Amino acid sequence: MSRKPLMVGNWKMHANHLETIQMVQKLSYRLDGPDFDRVDVAVAPPFTALRSAQTVLEADRIPISLAAQNVHQESEGAFTGEISATMLAKLSVSYVIVGHSERRSQFLEDDALVNRKVKAVLAEDMTPVICVGETLDEREAGQTDEVLIRQISGALKNLTPDQVAGLVVAYEPVWAIGTAHSAEPDDVQERVQRCRVAVVDSFADGGEHVRILYGGSVNPGNIGSYMAKRDIDGALVGGASLDPDTFAMVVRYWA
Ligand code: PEP
Repeated sequence: MSRKPLMVGNWKMHANHLETIQMVQKLSYRLDGPDFDRVDVAVAPPFTALRSAQTVLEADRIPISLAAQNVHQESEGAFTGEISATMLAKLSVSYVIVGHSERRSQFLEDDALVNRKVKAVLAEDMTPVICVGETLDEREAGQTDEVLIRQISGALKNLTPDQVAGLVVAYEPVWAIGTAHSAEPDDVQERVQRCRVAVVDSFADGGEHVRILYGGSVNPGNIGSYMAKRDIDGALVGGASLDPDTFAMVVRYWA
């Protein structure tokens, strides 16, 4: 099964709309047509910069996809401060990050809410990037696989095999995010393979098509060792995606 690699830059709460324009342009200068044949690339600026990013990407025909960092589960209503999947789709957003560990821990998002958000994203024909991962305490208690399976089955509840086939899952051990303590590639491969087997068990072939990314202190020096693993289909990159030169080196992991 060949799955096209995907590199997603999660800018978190960094970059205003003017900085975003510069970052997107710089990134595009550093990547060529053949790079995009080999890898799908997406950036997730803050909501306030999505429109500016969309304008530059479309005007200059840059084949970088737009991603959002979060979404509300309802399509409209009295939800002050929230953004719906319908609004994101209108901005040509292709991917939506759902259930990032920062949202789970700081905004108390649970698996049931993640499932509702996944469905909202799919209903607008966008691709959810579903983040799963264990905390250090859970890892030390030997609960990693149990946590991953629980989060994945919660997120995918009541989806069809066709819907699942188009999804992206990002395995992000919480202790590896923004810490410079990236996970061992062999360990990531093992965890990701178990996740894939669990998805195949529930959704048959859909599980073979799901792209599973690794996230957690990815940089140009370590990306190659993750991409060499059979079940790792790309990366969700935080800190290293903020500098276009560095992110371009991650994208071009083979160079
Ligand atoms: C993330 O926020 O999803 C992430 C993986 O961050 P970093 O690359 O900085 O560890």
